[in-house]
Amino acid sequence: MRFDIITVLPALLESPFAHSILQRAQKKGIAEIVVHSLRDYSTNKQKSVDDYPYGGGSGMVMSIEPFAKCIEGLKAMREYDEVIFMSPDGETLNQTIANELSGKGNVIILCGHYKGIDQRIRDLFVTREISIGDYVLSGGELPAAVLVDAIVRLIPGVLNDETSALSDSFQGELLDAPVYTRPADWNGHRVPDILLSGHEAKINEWRHEQALARTQARRPDLLED
Ligand code: SAH
Repeated sequence: MRFDIITVLPALLESPFAHSILQRAQKKGIAEIVVHSLRDYSTNKQKSVDDYPYGGGSGMVMSIEPFAKCIEGLKAMREYDEVIFMSPDGETLNQTIANELSGKGNVIILCGHYKGIDQRIRDLFVTREISIGDYVLSGGELPAAVLVDAIVRLIPGVLNDETSALSDSFQGELLDAPVYTRPADWNGHRVPDILLSGHEAKINEWRHEQALARTQARRPDLLED
């Protein structure tokens, strides 16, 4: 799967993709993540990518030309399944959306800044708008990194057995069960005996009960359907 991320702050996206599972996915050739600097597509000498809002008011607005130039250039090279704009007023990201997007081929992700992006970019180019929650951040880069991480770890072949996504919270209707590692006794705080029993069926049963109890206590809404 290929991600083309368009941003005015490419440096913000260097670290999130350079480590751990996301780095491995790229090395394995399962995910390709290309970050484009919006300023490179600016049409004026000052390399500006924003301007004052029509009608007045506070905050700068990102201009249509640089985004249009970058998106059209990308579309001339390959087909894209989605052009996603990260936006607090979009549909809220969840595991279902991440699963769905993990089956796509090529996607473009637009990161906004300042007051937002010219509405015409959204009307003309964007096919999907995604929020990472009901709060406002300064830019779309961290949301884009969150989205790509949530998607890439679901692409078959990215996770190995030890990090399998199948038992993760939200993958089914249950939250994940509690987990423990050595030592079995830390200052008198012991790991539940069942986990040391070696009895796989009983351990699975215990994990299911724990996951169910945790879901009932924390997120009863997940059990409603
Ligand atoms: N005026 C806009 C917020 C602009 S914040 C509004 O009230 O809706 C600047 C940029 O940060 C946005 O264009 C978007 O790309 C990004 N952003 C901020 N919060 C976000 C969130 N919760 N989810 C996704 N993107 C977000």
